[in-house]
Amino acid sequence: MLKQYLQEFANKNLQFLLVGKDGKILESEPSFLPIKTGDLITDVHPFFEGIAALEDEDESEFSFYCVHLEVAYQTYVTDIQRFQKKEGLLIVIQDLTKHYETYQAVAQARNESIINEELIVLKNAELEERERFKNLFIQNFSHELRNPLMSSMAITQILGDTHLNTEQKQLLDVLRDSNSHLKLLLEDTLSISMIASGKLELKSSLFNLSKLLELVSFTYQTKAKAKGLKFTFKADKRVPEMVEGDRLRLFQVLTNLLDNAIKYTQTGSVELHIAFNQQWANKVHLHFAVKDTGPGIPENKRDLVFETFSQLASPNAQQGTGLGLALVKGLLSLMESEIKLESTPGTGSVFSFDLGLKVPLRSALQSAKQHKSDATSRKIGGPGRKYKLLLVEDDERVLTVLFKILMDTKQFYIDVLDDGAEVLEAVIQNEYDLILMDINLPNTRGDQLTQIIREFPFKNVKQLPIVGITAYAYEDHMKAYKDAGMNAVLAKPFDSEELLTTLFSFLRK
Ligand code: ADP
Repeated sequence: MLKQYLQEFANKNLQFLLVGKDGKILESEPSFLPIKTGDLITDVHPFFEGIAALEDEDESEFSFYCVHLEVAYQTYVTDIQRFQKKEGLLIVIQDLTKHYETYQAVAQARNESIINEELIVLKNAELEERERFKNLFIQNFSHELRNPLMSSMAITQILGDTHLNTEQKQLLDVLRDSNSHLKLLLEDTLSISMIASGKLELKSSLFNLSKLLELVSFTYQTKAKAKGLKFTFKADKRVPEMVEGDRLRLFQVLTNLLDNAIKYTQTGSVELHIAFNQQWANKVHLHFAVKDTGPGIPENKRDLVFETFSQLASPNAQQGTGLGLALVKGLLSLMESEIKLESTPGTGSVFSFDLGLKVPLRSALQSAKQHKSDATSRKIGGPGRKYKLLLVEDDERVLTVLFKILMDTKQFYIDVLDDGAEVLEAVIQNEYDLILMDINLPNTRGDQLTQIIREFPFKNVKQLPIVGITAYAYEDHMKAYKDAGMNAVLAKPFDSEELLTTLFSFLRK
């Protein structure tokens, strides 16, 4: 029985040829290849010319693997063995076409998968490099913009305090608007890039939510009115006054949504609605919704609007960058929330989100209120008391406006330095109340100087309040400056109120 199968297999896959000295085939059996007795072996395929010509040694044996034979218009992939026998040349051909094809397919699939893996690694590396470059570009770009914007904001403010005619006042308002638009743009771009590189951390603190909502509703009431829109603000009575969270980032989310609602709505109304979902232990869950009667957003564009730099209308039609909603989405996801959009084209849109905020314990509330009243009384500064301040700034325009803001308070004697190398000598020679110092200085850096000052043996120098000014507003930079021993760091552009509040919070009465 087995013999029969063996025979079948041999017939199908094997061929034995006995070749005479003259190259003629003496015997051929069985025959999966169409080769007949009497044919010349060299006529079957040129490959056999080579193996017939090999050195004849008694009983010598040669093997050849994966030989492609094209016989009678068909290609066979074979292993061939050649034996020198007394009767002539014995050639054994084994048909392994299927075996080699499978082997080749497997090898090819393997190679392809290795190549694909390498491609993915390369693509990821390229994407990472692009992302890194983009973030670096944004950092440098925003840094370069901060000094001129700072001067522009401060000069606008200084001009506003002088006597102006109506036309000049109107022009100054336009300038003020452009400045705040630029500032917002700068902050949004930086925030987006910080979110993308995972560097934006929320800063949770106790804040007055009612006050924040009041400020927001007042601002947008005015903006809506100027455009002839109705503005409604509704908040559930159970919304707590004081909560713990990142005030600045919540403010950024609400202002972006409300700015859009007013920007894209031509007639009708804009509504800010805060509902109370529930309170669990010391956490309150609120629902924020910004509703408008604007053009709405078609269903197929609802994901797109949350992508960076995506705008539905042509960019020139409305003032904007396409960053606002991407920022809202990113900030809310950091706050473990999600932005939702319901919209009917032609009728309007509702952007909403749920937010869990911690409600402080009564004791924490008391101490926060006390701290705040201390800060406010300090902010005013001592009447009649003048402070000696060392101002270190190398950018002439920024120096001019800082000097003017400080002098206008009539509460400072100011020494000015533009070179960091002279700071150490100045603090030894003089008794300052505070140093206000740019961080990027020629010859040295403000944070390095701070580190040295903090290690001074004299108590009055060592403990001198130092406020840094920087155009690098990335959070890790800010943290590093504080770690170096600076009491506070102001990111350019800042306004005079921010500057003075910070300075007075470190000055003793
Ligand atoms: P920007 O407003 O700067 O263009 P956003 O990211 O805030 O960028 O918004 C992206 C796009 O989504 C806008 O360009 C606009 O086409 C659309 N959009 C945003 N808010 C609204 C809205 N309230 N009503 C209609 N369309 C809106």
